[in-house]
Amino acid sequence: MKSQASDIQIEKVKQEDLKPKPDPEKLLFGHQFSDHMLSIEWNSTSGWGRPLIHPLRNISLHPAAKVFHYAVELYEGLKAYRGGDNKVRIFRPDLNMERMYSTAERAMLPAFEGMKAYRGPDKKVRLFRPDQNARRLLSSAERSVMPTFDVHELVECMKKLISVDQEWVPYHPTSTLYIRPTLIGSEPSLGVAKTHDALLFVITGPVGPYYPTGFKPVSLLADPKYVRASKGGVGRYKMGSNYAPTIYIQIEALEKYDCQQVLWLYGDNHQVTEVGTMNFFLYWINEEGEKELVTPSLESGLILPGVTRKSLLELASTWGDIKITERDLYMNEIIKGLKENRVKEIFGAGTACVVSPVEKIIYDGKTYNIPTMAEDAPVTMRLYKELTDIQYGRVKSDWSVEI
Ligand code: PMP
Repeated sequence: MKSQASDIQIEKVKQEDLKPKPDPEKLLFGHQFSDHMLSIEWNSTSGWGRPLIHPLRNISLHPAAKVFHYAVELYEGLKAYRGGDNKVRIFRPDLNMERMYSTAERAMLPAFEGMKAYRGPDKKVRLFRPDQNARRLLSSAERSVMPTFDVHELVECMKKLISVDQEWVPYHPTSTLYIRPTLIGSEPSLGVAKTHDALLFVITGPVGPYYPTGFKPVSLLADPKYVRASKGGVGRYKMGSNYAPTIYIQIEALEKYDCQQVLWLYGDNHQVTEVGTMNFFLYWINEEGEKELVTPSLESGLILPGVTRKSLLELASTWGDIKITERDLYMNEIIKGLKENRVKEIFGAGTACVVSPVEKIIYDGKTYNIPTMAEDAPVTMRLYKELTDIQYGRVKSDWSVEI
């Protein structure tokens, strides 16, 4: 069925339920609402549904709805005016709709976290460094002027939730229960302002192995015309608003270049920041001839401080045979290293995959092959094994918190 305004269905508020109109002298922007609203549902298989005008009511959404996690949301602002002739007019609504349309093509302030519960060979369930996730959630909350909370108390609440649902943690060596703590501003008022109501919720669900058939290297599109975050912005926080704008570029990378991930660059010197939603790692022989594991520093504020990143750096620094460096890193250094055969491995790191080896980077109209998978004993795999051994409780560590 084609959705048209002429198909509109109207459900009116009962006469006795109509709200009294507020004093027009005493209106506070965004705090009062009319009796009705318009809703039109859309889904990718059937398109737009029938438009509905119905009584203003709360919207009920599944806790996994994208808006809560990735700020997939956009809005417009226009006004209706009552003239001296008592007629009501709206001002250039076509311009607003055009802008809304173009915004929709590209696709305000939830913060979320992502962590996992692991079942070990001893059948026990463990969380991996949950305090790190709770702390990061707290820092995002502070930056969003959202309520703060006690990190330890939140970890205890999550442990209870997982204990209740413990049979949902897969009995499997590489599957896990994914945990998504989310904090959203829920105050029902318009206006870009601090929220006075908020909701913290945690949803969980079993997830399968990231590499069911062995490691699969990815190709990256590095296009400096797009940025994920900027200096002075909020790249270091896990706010939903950092994510929605990246989807468009992700799709372009896949459809036009057959690249599964985007390599996010920043600034005129093409500073390397992140790989999709993972932290970036380079293992090479540096210009001084040393074996070195390099990851972009957090100081720029452009990068999410990954729990996996921190853990891999801490693990590798105990080895003693590799230099570990956190610093700003630029594309020209990587290209030079590749030309001189000094680049050995590039990988992304994050909770979902632990490590994601990179085999190709498309940059500046050229394709660069990365020999990550050609190494005999790759650092990427050494890190993967050491970290997953801890996460699944195969190796004892304080990082693993038993339920
Ligand atoms: N960078 C970004 C942008 C991310 O969304 C994630 C996923 N949380 C990461 C890096 C990796 O962080 P973590 O190791 O904590 O999963």
